Amino acid sequence: MKIPLILDIRGNSLDDGPGIRTVVFFKGCPLSCSWCHNPESKKTTAELSFDESECAGCDACIGMCEKKALSRKIIGFVDRKKCSLCFRCTEVCPSGALSRMGREVPVEEIMATIFRDMPFYRNSGGGVTLSGGEPTLFMDFASQILQQCKKKKIHTLIETCGHFEWGQFEKKILPWIDMVYYDIKIMDSALHKRYCGLSNEKILNNFENLAALSLKRKINLLARTPLVPDITDTPENLQAIARYLSALGISSASLLPYNPMWKKKIMKFGINDEINAPDNESWMETIHIDKCKSIFAQYGISV
Ligand code: SF4
Ligand code: SF4
Repeated sequence: MKIPLILDIRGNSLDDGPGIRTVVFFKGCPLSCSWCHNPESKKTTAELSFDESECAGCDACIGMCEKKALSRKIIGFVDRKKCSLCFRCTEVCPSGALSRMGREVPVEEIMATIFRDMPFYRNSGGGVTLSGGEPTLFMDFASQILQQCKKKKIHTLIETCGHFEWGQFEKKILPWIDMVYYDIKIMDSALHKRYCGLSNEKILNNFENLAALSLKRKINLLARTPLVPDITDTPENLQAIARYLSALGISSASLLPYNPMWKKKIMKFGINDEINAPDNESWMETIHIDKCKSIFAQYGISV
């Protein structure tokens, strides 16, 4: 079984499905969306994070790093070429400014957290959400969590980018899942490849399979489109998505406001790649969500 690294297990979430939920964040994603607001979830491997705003300036870490990878003279503090990811510096850091992103967590430990939170699910209509990253990268591991949840009648939801093998998903995930939050980002395949790293054929094929099941009321499916200025929120793209959903008999969807948090986050990981996405927080105000909603409404899709 492919063992994932887990970024976080967060209880009391109100943003990741109905009711109060426990969210398990997997590390690793097959896509590489330029606007991803969880850049720490892109790689499947563990990473060293340095948060300058948390640093107490004690310099305890600098002297103990055998690779001499830490220095105030380095932009971002960590020389990523020298760092061997031993994570010893995180053990001496008193403030948590240096931290390890991603750790192996046994299914039993995850289930213990989930079972502890069960009273919250009962009272709120909540449950468990598998998120990421992309949980379907680790179907067997995810399946174990979902199966144990279903034994206890816990509501289960998976958030997915849709880039997975349908046969595996049908066998290992689908029988144990109540709801799917499914990202439909860009309809033009070439643009999808440009901004998300891969073309969208597999994603759309998988969505169509799920849409057919949702029409038969075998699964609860919600298509979600993040509104990224000038990339996903163009009238052409939104019209194409709405037309596509309407043709599949889908009558409701979700539009996610743009989140420019990625810019602050990538600094912590020393990511210096050219990022092809807007970084100006004023985009938050200039997005015309109502206008975007009205495009969906023209095709009979409520948002
Ligand atoms: S993870 Fe290890 S090698 Fe990297 S900076 Fe910390 S102590 Fe040095
Ligand atoms: S040990 Fe932590 S708080 Fe001290 S200098 Fe290093 S990163 Fe900053």
